[in-house]
Amino acid sequence: MPAPGPSVAAAARLARQFDYPSPQLQRGVDEFLRQMSEGLSKSGATLSQIPTYVTSVPNGTEKGLYLAVDLGGTNFRVCSIDLHGDSTFNLTQSKVPIPRDLMVAPSYKQLFQFLAKQVEHFLELHHNEHFETTVRRRRMTGTTDQYRREEIFDLGFTFSFPVHQTSINQGTLIRWTKGFDIPDAIGKDVCSMLQNAIDELHLPVRVAALVNDTVGTLMARSYTSPGKTETLIGAIFGTGTNGAYLESLNKVTKMDTSKGADFDQSTGNMVINTEWGSFDNQLSVLPNTEFDQQLDAGSVNPGIQMFEKRVSGMFLGEILRRAILSLTKDPEANLLQKNGSSIPDTSPLYSVWGIDTSFLSAVEADTTSDLALTKAALREHFEVHDPSTDDAVAIKTIGHAIAKRAARLSAVALSAVLLDTGRINTDETVDIGVDGSLVEFYPKFVDYIREAMREIKGVGEKERKVRIGIAKDGSGVGAALIALVAHKSN
Ligand code: ADP
Repeated sequence: MPAPGPSVAAAARLARQFDYPSPQLQRGVDEFLRQMSEGLSKSGATLSQIPTYVTSVPNGTEKGLYLAVDLGGTNFRVCSIDLHGDSTFNLTQSKVPIPRDLMVAPSYKQLFQFLAKQVEHFLELHHNEHFETTVRRRRMTGTTDQYRREEIFDLGFTFSFPVHQTSINQGTLIRWTKGFDIPDAIGKDVCSMLQNAIDELHLPVRVAALVNDTVGTLMARSYTSPGKTETLIGAIFGTGTNGAYLESLNKVTKMDTSKGADFDQSTGNMVINTEWGSFDNQLSVLPNTEFDQQLDAGSVNPGIQMFEKRVSGMFLGEILRRAILSLTKDPEANLLQKNGSSIPDTSPLYSVWGIDTSFLSAVEADTTSDLALTKAALREHFEVHDPSTDDAVAIKTIGHAIAKRAARLSAVALSAVLLDTGRINTDETVDIGVDGSLVEFYPKFVDYIREAMREIKGVGEKERKVRIGIAKDGSGVGAALIALVAHKSN
């Protein structure tokens, strides 16, 4: 084996910038705890700590048939979920693309009429018997009688745009994102917009809950978690990152819990949507390499979502791309520059967002002795003519460091919640549900989270009591479960 060349040594030096050692990790947790508590006491804090009006989590014994819809991007999903009461469920779903001319339109009416129509199609197709005896019979006889309560489906509405939620089934749209632009919907209650369109079709459906996808993840995991353990945290590590957890209501001091406040307070708890993607936007404790700075400066929202920009799938590939480019320009490192066969101008390595985070997973999983798979990916995806094993080793070293830092930062958020709630100090297993391609597919991502947890004061050895499991289908079964608790509390 020839001695490693200069690109390998240069990559190892660069990778050290992504080290996130114990003392920094600890400072991160201390600051996260401070920002959590600030977010619970006032609005406008860096950690939004949004009350969701969900006051309990399921234990797997819940039963019933519920509907869920999900509007959050290019597709609209409708599903029905039959909860069996033994941690299992059946899910039936349909998915349709949303026509572009409804996403950008002067009025919201057409969009919501389209959504209601999809709910109608779904009921006709998958619950025809029920449709016959309710909707069709009324239409045939021309009756406008109210439906009986037992004929009505409760529906959970996952709506992944910024809303100001004021009760379990009310929230006003703050702004559209992701290519939607319908000005007259801003400031309106999104559940009413859907309910009105459903009522125009006289469907037996009640929009019972407005659902955030992270809260859905928490609920879905809590229903399916082994041994009927109630889950403490739901966390997403996908395109973005966010977490929701069960907090003591008496700590949510910014909420009106006076007599007459319009929600069930009997459990003494409230699920909080942390919106932790914006943790430490002021960069008091977050690591900040030159590559993080470049990425932020070139982003559409500089100075915002700073935690997310170091942790989630949307950004890790881009951090790696910028780090690789710096070593291709460094004459000492000479990365990917063998025999002057530099990278062609058309290579995605030169385009912003040119590396997808799935590349980091693929490289990390490459255990061939000469990193043949990594070299093949460099050739096929990035048009590099003749990558050497040294080049591949260098890239693997940097990618590993970026992803490991992301996992250690994830541990900051999770550990802070374990400590804040005191749940780590009880004898019971503490269950955490996670979802998202990064945590699901990056090799050992959860192991790195656990390793970091053990380094944190107050967690340490107790990390063994923490169970971390994948929670699928927050916007389906999770939304159904929120519709269920909404129904119970009404
Ligand atoms: P979403 O969060 O949008 O619901 P995902 O959980 O699939 O969807 O996350 C998508 C993000 O995960 C993208 O940013 C993508 O780059 C990243 N990603 C996709 N596949 C992988 C993978 N195998 N390993 C790591 N990250 C991945």
